Amino acid sequence: MTPRRLIIAIDGPSGAGKGTVAREVARRLRYRHVDTGAMYRAVGWKALREGLDLDDERDVSALASRATFDLEGGHVRIDGHDVSQAIRTPEMDRAATRVARLPAVREALVRRQREMGEQGGVVMEGRDIGTVVFPEADVKIYLDAAPEERARRRAADPAHANGGGVAEVASALAAGDELDRTRAASPLKVAADAVRIDTTGVDIDGVVAQVMAIVEERGRTYSSRSR
Ligand code: C5P
Repeated sequence: MTPRRLIIAIDGPSGAGKGTVAREVARRLRYRHVDTGAMYRAVGWKALREGLDLDDERDVSALASRATFDLEGGHVRIDGHDVSQAIRTPEMDRAATRVARLPAVREALVRRQREMGEQGGVVMEGRDIGTVVFPEADVKIYLDAAPEERARRRAADPAHANGGGVAEVASALAAGDELDRTRAASPLKVAADAVRIDTTGVDIDGVVAQVMAIVEERGRTYSSRSR
């Protein structure tokens, strides 16, 4: 029997290790990896490029609904533009967080995310995957880490242009997290049925091993039920 292909949701704040863990879990399972933060970043990038006001819900959500996204092979493309690098800057951190506050933008992106994941065989990372995008996800993980460690990781991330030292990165992360946690539309929170993993001081392999054990356990439950 072919094992059922699961929907795996990984949520948490910036720098908790979601990207690295989600990518590796997807690689091991041969699942699709979907970085939903990259979609909010790409919408912020395109809105700035078109000279839109990032608080204009109508214009930005129209852009998000029309846009095509291509997240294959570790690249991020919006409407055919490869923005993989351009979206990893402090300016795009802020732009993403601003457009992510707008309910109509979230609606447009959540619709796309559901289409990408509904067949299963997906590891989707973000802030609201286990709470809003796939409340029925088969596995829900919430990764967290101490603020200093998250800032250190973000500052050392070669894919992310940071400009400034760890202290500057720490205060920018704290400001972004505060907005994500307190916004009215789909704030960052732990789903009631998520497994919470604190990644402070734990290496990535250790976290991946924990997630894989949870996934395998869930896969076994399904196959014994369907026998
Ligand atoms: O994960 P990443 O840091 O790339 O996400 C950028 C921003 O996009 C986050 O700070 C958050 O404001 C927003 N986001 C969101 N919901 C998601 C993913 C990201 O609101 N599912």
